[in-house]
Amino acid sequence: MKNKTILIVDDTIVNLDILGELLKQYDVIDAISGEDAFDALENIKVDLILLDIMMPDMDGFEVCQKLKSNQTTKNIPIIFITAKTDEDSIEKAYDVGGIDYITKPFKPKELLARVRRELHLQELQAELKLLASTDSMTRLYNRRYFTKTSKHTLDLSKREKQNLSIIMLDIDKFKNVNDTYGHQVGDDVIITLANKLIEHQRKSDIICRYGGEEFVILLPNTSLENSEIVAQKIRKDIESLTIKIASNENLKFTISLGISQVDLEHENNIELALKRADNALYEAKETGRNKVCTKT
Ligand code: GH3
Ligand code: MG
Ligand code: MG
Repeated sequence: MKNKTILIVDDTIVNLDILGELLKQYDVIDAISGEDAFDALENIKVDLILLDIMMPDMDGFEVCQKLKSNQTTKNIPIIFITAKTDEDSIEKAYDVGGIDYITKPFKPKELLARVRRELHLQELQAELKLLASTDSMTRLYNRRYFTKTSKHTLDLSKREKQNLSIIMLDIDKFKNVNDTYGHQVGDDVIITLANKLIEHQRKSDIICRYGGEEFVILLPNTSLENSEIVAQKIRKDIESLTIKIASNENLKFTISLGISQVDLEHENNIELALKRADNALYEAKETGRNKVCTKT
């Protein structure tokens, strides 16, 4: 696993040296002031910040407040390390968003243990977040995350006045695959399809496993015509795919796709557009499957 990076902010060089030596198992970055810390954070992703309170110009409380009000730095945990031991300072440290408070002179082993615990908690939190937002079988986003993030994507599209298209797709006659080859092979087909969708994914596309064998792709900044081109590419790619299964048999499958676009002027969520994509998908199923239909 990638080594953790810790930013130490202290105006006293000796303190930076002592802490740097103590934490040498990590990648350590020094900053001698708040400004210096902000500069460092522009270029480097940091897992934890150790922050002194008494510094000229900007004190640690202010530095912490600024970091917590910035979208890109607000989630970095901050441990205060300070000579201030009065209760008001301790209270303030937590009030401004600090996660822990260590007084100088500190006990080296205790400091190390607290740093280690904080980094471990960070990892657990990231793991939980991933579990809550993704589908464990395909690693794609789950429906809950999709619903949450679609609001944000729609807001962005409205602000930038850019098209937002939706592709909804579903495996054709998938029940037959399960009935003929068993559930495990069925699972393999779903995973294969998910991986293909990821191959076709562009940077801003959001792919979600919407239901069992049903997927939705949100395509920001994409016209209906262009999403049709994307959908046809995916459809053909799946059509030409051959999956080898254990019994040395070859398995082929197809998908049907429905496309729609959000009406940015009149719609404040993607529900209606999803419904239109679903209707288009239904039409594709009804009129022969392995095809793309569009509902404007
Ligand atoms: P259509 O072309 O109309 O979509 O027909 P279909 O057979 O694909 O659709 P239907 O909705 O009748 O069946 C979908 C099947 O997908 C039923 C369900 O058991 C199966 N399924 C859903 N999720 C999973 C899964 O995670 N793994 C496997 N193996 N099967 C799944
Ligand atoms: Mg100081
Ligand atoms: Mg199906």
